[in-house]
Amino acid sequence: MNILLLGKNGQVGWELQRSLSVLGRVTALDHDSPDHCGDFARPEGVAETVRALRPDVIVNAAAHTAVDRAESEPEHARLLNATTPGVLAAEAARLGAWLVHYSTDYVFDGSGSAPWREDDAPAPLSVYGATKLEGEQLIRQSGCRHLILRTSWVYAARGGNFAKTMLRLAQERERLTVIDDQWGAPTGADLLADVTAHAIRHLQANPQDGGLYHCVAGGETTWHSYAKYVLDVARQGDAAIKLKATEVAPVPTSAFPTPARRPHNSRLDTQKLQRTFGLTLPPWQQGVARMLAETLR
Ligand code: NDP
Repeated sequence: MNILLLGKNGQVGWELQRSLSVLGRVTALDHDSPDHCGDFARPEGVAETVRALRPDVIVNAAAHTAVDRAESEPEHARLLNATTPGVLAAEAARLGAWLVHYSTDYVFDGSGSAPWREDDAPAPLSVYGATKLEGEQLIRQSGCRHLILRTSWVYAARGGNFAKTMLRLAQERERLTVIDDQWGAPTGADLLADVTAHAIRHLQANPQDGGLYHCVAGGETTWHSYAKYVLDVARQGDAAIKLKATEVAPVPTSAFPTPARRPHNSRLDTQKLQRTFGLTLPPWQQGVARMLAETLR
């Protein structure tokens, strides 16, 4: 299998370099790759890359993920999150290639408390959410064979993440304040990458199963409970870090005003994915504990 991976150095892209390697030959590109254009600000260049490499599967992990910045640069966010994925989809359709793409819980408005299903009506609150939704729509309309995985609250061991920020702050301050009215599931980039590889293999034999799926770790939490869990794990471990924080206070979203509005209810229903692909999505604590074990060692 000939695979083209775009956005290779992002949280998910980095893990995909590992998980896709057993499926075949992977050409992995970033926005400044020298040999082929992987720059989503240049849709024509990305189209040329697809025409030159003629992949069987394109996996797109590149995106404009700076949710607040997107509010002040909507055209750039749209180019990266919608226009270029749409061009990729058109090229995939011409080639008969698969396109794997990631989307977000931010396509929903976060109302209610029930987990969102794939067929629930999207209503994004932010430029990021709206551009990601447009990307999904362009892919679905292109007629290419595709797999879109909507996920949420992605973290990775590599680079910065919420858990590491909480650990740093807990070493500096006695009291942390963390939002307790947004619900979701922290999802490891490694889990997403592994599910992606399994799904690609499944789709080779079952192409009728392509489409849109929700893919997050099991269970649910708030940022506040997530932070408390991280600090509990750090205290129980034998790492030599000393936590100063004695209190993690819950606060509403309004305590941290941001340019982009975020959904309160980011719960995603993953039954369709688990049933179709015969996969089990482990509880979110499992991946976070593992990431912390790697980080704190
Ligand atoms: P990252 O921000 O870690 O990765 C995105 C990648 O895109 C980075 O490597 C970034 O490069 C790259 N990129 C930025 N600009 C360009 C460009 N012009 N051309 C090509 N590549 C570019 O995001 P994640 O790995 O976390 O996200 C993967 C997918 O999951 C995305 O589709 C995202 O929308 C989705 N998602 C992410 C969530 C999250 O919490 N992170 C939640 C829900 C969905 P650089 O860093 O050098 O700018």
